[in-house]
Amino acid sequence: PETITIQELANRMAERAVDVIKLLMQQGQMLKINDVIDADTAELIANELGHTVKRVSEADVEEGLYGEPDDPADLVPRPPVVTIMGHVDHGKTSLLDALRETNVVAGEAGGITQHIGAYQARTPSGDVITFIDTPGHAAFTSMRARGAKVTDIVVLVVAADDGVMPQTVEAINHARAANVPIIVAINKMDKPDADPGRVRNDLLRYEIVVESLGGETLEVEVSALKRMNLDKLLEAIHLQAEVLELKANPNRPAEGVVVEAKLDRGRGPVGTVLVQRGTLKVGDVLVCGAEWGKVRALIDDKGDNVDSAGPATPVEVLGLDGTPEAGDRFAVVDSEARAREIAAYRQRKKRERQHARGVGAKTSLEQMMS
Ligand code: GDP
Ligand code: MG
Repeated sequence: PETITIQELANRMAERAVDVIKLLMQQGQMLKINDVIDADTAELIANELGHTVKRVSEADVEEGLYGEPDDPADLVPRPPVVTIMGHVDHGKTSLLDALRETNVVAGEAGGITQHIGAYQARTPSGDVITFIDTPGHAAFTSMRARGAKVTDIVVLVVAADDGVMPQTVEAINHARAANVPIIVAINKMDKPDADPGRVRNDLLRYEIVVESLGGETLEVEVSALKRMNLDKLLEAIHLQAEVLELKANPNRPAEGVVVEAKLDRGRGPVGTVLVQRGTLKVGDVLVCGAEWGKVRALIDDKGDNVDSAGPATPVEVLGLDGTPEAGDRFAVVDSEARAREIAAYRQRKKRERQHARGVGAKTSLEQMMS
Protein backbone atom coordinates (compact mmCIF):
# COMPACT_ATOMS: atom_id res chain seq x y z
CA PRO A 1 0.00 0.00 0.00
CA GLU A 2 1.04 3.59 -0.68
CA THR A 3 2.33 5.42 2.37
CA ILE A 4 3.96 8.73 3.17
CA THR A 5 5.61 10.21 6.25
CA ILE A 6 4.00 13.16 7.97
CA GLN A 7 7.11 15.20 7.32
CA GLU A 8 6.98 14.52 3.62
CA LEU A 9 3.27 15.11 3.33
CA ALA A 10 3.80 18.47 5.04
CA ASN A 11 6.71 19.29 2.73
CA ARG A 12 4.69 18.48 -0.34
CA MET A 13 1.86 20.77 0.74
CA ALA A 14 4.27 23.42 2.03
CA GLU A 15 2.45 23.20 5.36
CA ARG A 16 3.89 22.85 8.84
CA ALA A 17 4.20 19.28 10.06
CA VAL A 18 2.82 20.32 13.42
CA ASP A 19 -0.47 21.31 11.74
CA VAL A 20 -0.72 17.91 10.12
CA ILE A 21 -0.06 16.25 13.46
CA LYS A 22 -2.79 18.39 15.10
CA LEU A 23 -5.33 17.37 12.46
CA LEU A 24 -4.45 13.72 12.93
CA MET A 25 -4.79 14.15 16.67
CA GLN A 26 -8.30 15.55 16.19
CA GLN A 27 -9.08 12.28 14.43
CA GLY A 28 -7.73 10.32 17.33
CA GLN A 29 -4.36 9.45 15.88
CA MET A 30 -1.35 10.25 18.01
CA LEU A 31 1.55 10.34 15.60
CA LYS A 32 5.00 11.85 15.33
CA ILE A 33 6.68 13.63 12.45
CA ASN A 34 8.48 10.58 11.05
CA ASP A 35 5.53 8.23 11.35
CA VAL A 36 3.98 6.88 8.22
CA ILE A 37 0.32 7.27 7.23
CA ASP A 38 -1.54 5.57 4.42
CA ALA A 39 -2.60 7.26 1.21
CA ASP A 40 -6.28 7.61 2.19
CA THR A 41 -5.44 9.35 5.46
CA ALA A 42 -2.95 11.57 3.66
CA GLU A 43 -5.59 12.56 1.12
CA LEU A 44 -8.06 13.36 3.89
CA ILE A 45 -5.54 15.58 5.67
CA ALA A 46 -4.57 17.29 2.44
CA ASN A 47 -8.21 18.06 1.69
CA GLU A 48 -8.73 19.40 5.22
CA LEU A 49 -5.90 21.82 4.57
CA GLY A 50 -7.43 22.92 1.30
CA HIS A 51 -5.19 21.04 -1.11
CA THR A 52 -6.26 18.98 -4.06
CA VAL A 53 -4.60 15.62 -4.31
CA LYS A 54 -3.28 13.92 -7.38
CA ARG A 55 -2.23 10.39 -6.61
CA VAL A 56 0.46 9.01 -8.86
CA SER A 57 1.16 5.37 -9.28
CA GLU A 58 4.49 3.87 -10.16
CA ALA A 59 3.21 3.23 -13.66
CA ASP A 60 2.26 6.90 -14.13
CA VAL A 61 5.57 8.25 -12.99
CA GLU A 62 7.69 5.76 -14.85
CA GLU A 63 5.57 5.73 -17.98
CA GLY A 64 7.58 6.08 -21.15
CA LEU A 65 10.81 6.45 -19.22
CA TYR A 66 12.37 3.53 -20.99
CA GLY A 67 11.49 4.06 -24.60
CA GLU A 68 9.63 1.87 -27.01
CA PRO A 69 11.43 -0.99 -28.75
CA ASP A 70 13.41 0.34 -31.67
CA ASP A 71 12.43 -0.04 -35.29
CA PRO A 72 14.75 -2.73 -36.70
CA ALA A 73 15.60 -0.32 -39.52
CA ASP A 74 17.23 2.04 -36.99
CA LEU A 75 19.54 -0.59 -35.52
CA VAL A 76 23.26 -0.58 -36.26
CA PRO A 77 25.99 -2.98 -35.07
CA ARG A 78 27.44 -2.24 -31.63
CA PRO A 79 30.43 -3.61 -29.70
CA PRO A 80 29.97 -6.65 -27.43
CA VAL A 81 29.98 -6.12 -23.67
CA VAL A 82 32.12 -8.71 -21.92
CA THR A 83 32.52 -9.72 -18.27
CA ILE A 84 35.42 -11.81 -17.07
CA MET A 85 34.49 -14.35 -14.41
CA GLY A 86 36.16 -17.26 -12.68
CA HIS A 87 37.55 -18.69 -9.46
CA VAL A 88 39.55 -16.44 -7.14
CA ASP A 89 43.24 -16.21 -8.08
CA HIS A 90 42.72 -17.76 -11.49
CA GLY A 91 43.76 -14.46 -13.06
CA LYS A 92 40.67 -12.32 -13.79
CA THR A 93 42.28 -9.06 -12.75
CA SER A 94 45.58 -9.94 -14.43
CA LEU A 95 43.79 -10.75 -17.66
CA LEU A 96 41.73 -7.55 -17.60
CA ASP A 97 44.86 -5.53 -16.90
CA ALA A 98 46.84 -7.33 -19.59
CA LEU A 99 44.12 -6.75 -22.18
CA ARG A 100 43.87 -3.11 -21.19
CA GLU A 101 47.62 -2.50 -21.21
CA THR A 102 48.14 -4.28 -24.49
CA ASN A 103 45.75 -1.78 -25.86
CA VAL A 104 47.22 1.27 -24.22
CA VAL A 105 50.66 0.39 -25.54
CA ALA A 106 49.24 -0.11 -29.00
CA GLY A 107 47.12 3.02 -28.84
CA GLU A 108 48.42 5.94 -26.84
CA ALA A 109 52.10 6.47 -26.14
CA GLY A 110 52.43 4.81 -22.76
CA GLY A 111 49.40 6.60 -21.35
CA ILE A 112 48.06 5.22 -18.12
CA THR A 113 44.37 4.44 -18.25
CA GLN A 114 42.44 5.37 -15.19
CA HIS A 115 40.20 2.85 -13.54
CA ILE A 116 36.56 3.53 -14.29
CA GLY A 117 35.19 0.01 -13.89
CA ALA A 118 34.88 -0.60 -17.60
CA TYR A 119 36.99 -0.02 -20.68
CA GLN A 120 37.18 -0.67 -24.37
CA ALA A 121 39.83 -2.70 -26.16
CA ARG A 122 40.41 -3.29 -29.85
CA THR A 123 41.06 -6.52 -31.70
CA PRO A 124 44.06 -6.56 -34.06
CA SER A 125 41.63 -5.89 -36.90
CA GLY A 126 40.25 -2.86 -35.11
CA ASP A 127 36.95 -4.10 -33.74
CA VAL A 128 35.95 -2.64 -30.39
CA ILE A 129 35.17 -4.79 -27.34
CA THR A 130 33.80 -3.38 -24.09
CA PHE A 131 35.00 -5.01 -20.87
CA ILE A 132 33.21 -4.55 -17.59
CA ASP A 133 35.34 -4.88 -14.54
CA THR A 134 32.72 -5.92 -12.00
CA PRO A 135 34.10 -6.33 -8.52
CA GLY A 136 33.39 -10.02 -8.18
CA HIS A 137 30.26 -11.90 -8.90
CA ALA A 138 28.17 -9.87 -6.47
CA ALA A 139 27.74 -6.92 -8.78
CA PHE A 140 26.85 -9.20 -11.65
CA THR A 141 24.19 -10.97 -9.61
CA SER A 142 22.69 -7.83 -8.13
CA MET A 143 22.53 -6.19 -11.54
CA ARG A 144 20.77 -9.21 -12.93
CA ALA A 145 18.42 -9.34 -9.95
CA ARG A 146 17.43 -5.78 -10.85
CA GLY A 147 16.65 -6.94 -14.34
CA ALA A 148 19.53 -5.16 -15.95
CA LYS A 149 21.08 -7.35 -18.57
CA VAL A 150 24.52 -5.94 -19.02
CA THR A 151 26.79 -8.62 -20.39
CA ASP A 152 26.67 -10.18 -23.85
CA ILE A 153 29.53 -12.63 -23.34
CA VAL A 154 31.24 -14.15 -20.30
CA VAL A 155 34.93 -14.98 -20.50
CA LEU A 156 35.41 -17.82 -18.03
CA VAL A 157 38.95 -17.81 -16.70
CA VAL A 158 40.22 -21.18 -15.49
CA ALA A 159 43.79 -21.57 -14.26
CA ALA A 160 45.47 -24.43 -16.09
CA ASP A 161 47.35 -25.48 -12.95
CA ASP A 162 44.24 -25.56 -10.76
CA GLY A 163 41.31 -26.65 -12.92
CA VAL A 164 37.60 -26.14 -12.37
CA MET A 165 36.89 -24.86 -8.85
CA PRO A 166 33.70 -23.87 -6.95
CA GLN A 167 33.57 -20.29 -8.24
CA THR A 168 34.18 -21.55 -11.76
CA VAL A 169 30.97 -23.52 -11.42
CA GLU A 170 29.21 -20.51 -9.92
CA ALA A 171 30.27 -18.42 -12.88
CA ILE A 172 28.98 -21.07 -15.28
CA ASN A 173 25.64 -21.03 -13.48
CA HIS A 174 25.43 -17.23 -13.61
CA ALA A 175 26.17 -17.18 -17.32
CA ARG A 176 23.57 -19.89 -17.93
CA ALA A 177 20.90 -18.14 -15.90
CA ALA A 178 21.54 -14.95 -17.84
CA ASN A 179 21.56 -16.87 -21.11
CA VAL A 180 24.98 -15.49 -21.99
CA PRO A 181 27.49 -17.48 -24.05
CA ILE A 182 30.78 -18.49 -22.43
CA ILE A 183 34.27 -18.32 -23.89
CA VAL A 184 36.81 -20.35 -21.92
CA ALA A 185 40.20 -18.73 -21.27
CA ILE A 186 42.56 -21.36 -19.94
CA ASN A 187 45.03 -19.15 -18.09
CA LYS A 188 48.50 -19.57 -16.57
CA MET A 189 49.69 -21.63 -19.53
CA ASP A 190 53.23 -20.45 -18.74
CA LYS A 191 53.30 -22.55 -15.58
CA PRO A 192 55.22 -25.85 -15.72
CA ASP A 193 52.34 -27.76 -14.18
CA ALA A 194 49.74 -26.33 -16.55
CA ASP A 195 47.30 -29.05 -17.60
CA PRO A 196 44.80 -27.61 -20.08
CA GLY A 197 43.51 -31.09 -20.90
CA ARG A 198 42.27 -31.50 -17.39
CA VAL A 199 40.42 -28.17 -17.59
CA ARG A 200 38.68 -29.28 -20.78
CA ASN A 201 37.68 -32.60 -19.23
CA ASP A 202 36.53 -30.98 -15.98
CA LEU A 203 34.27 -28.68 -17.97
CA LEU A 204 32.51 -31.63 -19.62
CA ARG A 205 30.91 -32.38 -16.27
CA TYR A 206 29.16 -29.02 -16.51
CA GLU A 207 28.09 -29.61 -20.08
CA ILE A 208 30.61 -27.23 -21.51
CA VAL A 209 32.15 -28.91 -24.53
CA VAL A 210 34.98 -26.88 -25.98
CA GLU A 211 35.76 -26.82 -29.69
CA SER A 212 38.84 -29.05 -29.50
CA LEU A 213 36.63 -31.76 -27.98
CA GLY A 214 34.10 -31.40 -30.75
CA GLY A 215 31.83 -28.90 -29.00
CA GLU A 216 30.80 -25.34 -29.70
CA THR A 217 32.34 -23.40 -26.82
CA LEU A 218 35.25 -21.25 -27.93
CA GLU A 219 38.46 -21.75 -25.93
CA VAL A 220 41.80 -19.98 -25.87
CA GLU A 221 44.94 -20.96 -23.97
CA VAL A 222 46.44 -17.80 -22.53
CA SER A 223 48.93 -16.43 -20.08
CA ALA A 224 47.98 -13.10 -18.59
CA LEU A 225 51.44 -12.94 -17.05
CA LYS A 226 53.38 -13.54 -20.27
CA ARG A 227 50.78 -11.78 -22.43
CA MET A 228 50.39 -14.94 -24.46
CA ASN A 229 47.51 -15.32 -26.95
CA LEU A 230 45.70 -12.18 -25.84
CA ASP A 231 45.03 -11.28 -29.48
CA LYS A 232 43.55 -14.74 -29.97
CA LEU A 233 41.24 -14.17 -27.04
CA LEU A 234 40.12 -10.83 -28.47
CA GLU A 235 39.50 -12.49 -31.84
CA ALA A 236 37.47 -15.26 -30.20
CA ILE A 237 35.32 -12.64 -28.47
CA HIS A 238 34.84 -10.85 -31.76
CA LEU A 239 33.84 -14.12 -33.45
CA GLN A 240 31.31 -14.90 -30.75
CA ALA A 241 29.95 -11.36 -30.96
CA GLU A 242 29.41 -11.69 -34.70
CA VAL A 243 27.25 -14.73 -34.11
CA LEU A 244 25.15 -12.74 -31.66
CA GLU A 245 24.56 -9.92 -34.20
CA LEU A 246 24.51 -7.26 -31.51
CA LYS A 247 22.77 -4.07 -32.54
CA ALA A 248 21.43 -0.87 -31.05
CA ASN A 249 19.85 2.39 -32.15
CA PRO A 250 22.30 5.23 -31.50
CA ASN A 251 19.84 7.94 -32.57
CA ARG A 252 17.54 8.20 -29.59
CA PRO A 253 17.69 9.42 -25.98
CA ALA A 254 20.21 7.32 -24.07
CA GLU A 255 19.39 4.47 -21.72
CA GLY A 256 21.71 2.18 -19.86
CA VAL A 257 22.97 0.93 -16.55
CA VAL A 258 25.28 2.08 -13.76
CA VAL A 259 28.36 -0.11 -13.56
CA GLU A 260 30.00 1.65 -10.65
CA ALA A 261 29.36 4.79 -8.61
CA LYS A 262 31.21 6.78 -6.02
CA LEU A 263 31.24 10.11 -4.26
CA ASP A 264 34.40 11.87 -5.38
CA ARG A 265 35.77 14.59 -3.12
CA GLY A 266 36.53 17.01 -5.86
CA ARG A 267 34.00 16.10 -8.50
CA GLY A 268 30.96 15.12 -6.46
CA PRO A 269 28.87 12.06 -7.34
CA VAL A 270 30.41 10.14 -10.22
CA GLY A 271 28.65 7.31 -11.99
CA THR A 272 30.30 5.01 -14.48
CA VAL A 273 27.51 4.07 -16.82
CA LEU A 274 27.25 1.77 -19.76
CA VAL A 275 25.12 3.24 -22.52
CA GLN A 276 22.94 0.45 -23.88
CA ARG A 277 20.98 2.31 -26.50
CA GLY A 278 20.85 5.85 -27.77
CA THR A 279 23.64 8.37 -27.35
CA LEU A 280 24.35 10.14 -24.08
CA LYS A 281 25.44 13.77 -24.50
CA VAL A 282 26.78 16.55 -22.35
CA GLY A 283 23.82 18.70 -21.31
CA ASP A 284 21.37 15.77 -21.30
CA VAL A 285 19.02 15.52 -18.32
CA LEU A 286 18.85 12.03 -16.90
CA VAL A 287 17.29 9.98 -14.15
CA CYS A 288 19.67 7.48 -12.64
CA GLY A 289 18.20 5.20 -10.00
CA ALA A 290 16.79 7.57 -7.39
CA GLU A 291 19.06 10.40 -8.51
CA TRP A 292 18.84 12.85 -11.35
CA GLY A 293 21.21 15.27 -12.99
CA LYS A 294 22.16 17.36 -15.95
CA VAL A 295 25.29 15.93 -17.54
CA ARG A 296 28.09 18.38 -16.80
CA ALA A 297 30.87 16.26 -18.29
CA LEU A 298 31.45 12.84 -19.79
CA ILE A 299 34.82 11.16 -19.35
CA ASP A 300 35.85 8.11 -21.33
CA ASP A 301 37.97 5.14 -20.24
CA LYS A 302 41.16 6.93 -21.32
CA GLY A 303 40.37 9.80 -18.97
CA ASP A 304 39.48 12.16 -21.81
CA ASN A 305 36.47 14.46 -21.82
CA VAL A 306 34.05 13.53 -24.59
CA ASP A 307 30.88 15.19 -25.89
CA SER A 308 28.88 12.00 -26.27
CA ALA A 309 28.85 8.23 -25.75
CA GLY A 310 27.00 5.76 -27.97
CA PRO A 311 25.78 2.18 -27.43
CA ALA A 312 28.07 -0.20 -25.50
CA THR A 313 30.33 2.69 -24.49
CA PRO A 314 31.30 3.02 -20.83
CA VAL A 315 31.60 6.58 -19.63
CA GLU A 316 31.85 8.52 -16.40
CA VAL A 317 28.98 10.92 -15.81
CA LEU A 318 29.42 14.10 -13.78
CA GLY A 319 26.56 16.29 -12.69
CA LEU A 320 24.34 13.90 -10.71
CA ASP A 321 22.72 15.24 -7.55
CA GLY A 322 23.51 12.11 -5.57
CA THR A 323 25.40 8.84 -5.84
CA PRO A 324 23.45 6.07 -7.59
CA GLU A 325 24.03 2.36 -7.00
CA ALA A 326 25.72 -0.18 -9.22
CA GLY A 327 22.99 -1.89 -11.20
CA ASP A 328 20.69 1.15 -11.29
CA ARG A 329 19.29 1.94 -14.69
CA PHE A 330 19.45 5.39 -16.19
CA ALA A 331 17.39 7.12 -18.86
CA VAL A 332 17.56 10.53 -20.48
CA VAL A 333 14.33 12.51 -20.09
CA ASP A 334 13.11 15.65 -21.81
CA SER A 335 12.97 18.08 -18.90
CA GLU A 336 14.49 18.80 -15.51
CA ALA A 337 11.01 18.94 -14.02
CA ARG A 338 10.30 15.38 -15.09
CA ALA A 339 13.69 14.19 -13.89
CA ARG A 340 13.09 15.78 -10.49
CA GLU A 341 9.63 14.27 -10.24
CA ILE A 342 10.81 10.75 -10.99
CA ALA A 343 13.84 11.02 -8.71
CA ALA A 344 11.73 12.38 -5.83
CA TYR A 345 9.25 9.57 -6.33
CA ARG A 346 11.99 6.95 -6.28
CA GLN A 347 13.65 8.52 -3.24
CA ARG A 348 10.35 8.21 -1.42
CA LYS A 349 9.95 4.58 -2.51
CA LYS A 350 13.46 3.89 -1.33
CA ARG A 351 12.74 5.40 2.09
CA GLU A 352 9.56 3.36 2.35
CA ARG A 353 11.46 0.19 1.63
CA GLN A 354 14.06 1.10 4.23
CA HIS A 355 11.32 1.80 6.76
CA ALA A 356 9.69 -1.50 5.97
CA ARG A 357 12.95 -3.31 6.52
CA GLY A 358 13.60 -1.46 9.74
CA VAL A 359 17.01 -0.30 8.58
CA GLY A 360 15.61 3.21 8.84
CA ALA A 361 16.31 3.23 12.56
CA LYS A 362 19.49 5.24 12.31
CA THR A 363 18.13 7.45 9.58
CA SER A 364 15.06 8.44 11.55
CA LEU A 365 17.22 9.21 14.55
CA GLU A 366 19.29 11.47 12.32
CA GLN A 367 16.12 13.07 11.01
CA MET A 368 14.91 13.72 14.53
CA MET A 369 18.19 15.32 15.48
CA SER A 370 18.29 17.59 12.45
P1 GDP B 1 41.84 -13.01 -9.69
O1 GDP B 1 41.61 -13.26 -8.23
O2 GDP B 1 41.12 -13.99 -10.54
O3 GDP B 1 41.57 -11.59 -10.08
O4 GDP B 1 43.39 -13.33 -9.95
P2 GDP B 1 44.61 -12.33 -10.10
O5 GDP B 1 44.63 -11.68 -11.42
O6 GDP B 1 44.65 -11.45 -8.92
O7 GDP B 1 45.82 -13.36 -10.09
C1 GDP B 1 46.09 -14.20 -8.99
C2 GDP B 1 47.54 -14.57 -8.98
O8 GDP B 1 47.85 -15.33 -10.15
C3 GDP B 1 48.49 -13.37 -9.03
O9 GDP B 1 49.59 -13.64 -8.21
C4 GDP B 1 48.89 -13.28 -10.48
O10 GDP B 1 50.16 -12.70 -10.65
C5 GDP B 1 48.91 -14.74 -10.88
N1 GDP B 1 48.66 -14.92 -12.31
C6 GDP B 1 47.63 -14.41 -13.02
N2 GDP B 1 47.73 -14.79 -14.31
C7 GDP B 1 48.86 -15.55 -14.42
C8 GDP B 1 49.49 -16.24 -15.50
O11 GDP B 1 49.06 -16.21 -16.65
N3 GDP B 1 50.60 -16.95 -15.19
C9 GDP B 1 51.11 -17.01 -13.93
N4 GDP B 1 52.21 -17.74 -13.75
N5 GDP B 1 50.54 -16.37 -12.91
C10 GDP B 1 49.42 -15.65 -13.12
MG1 MG C 1 40.82 -10.00 -8.97
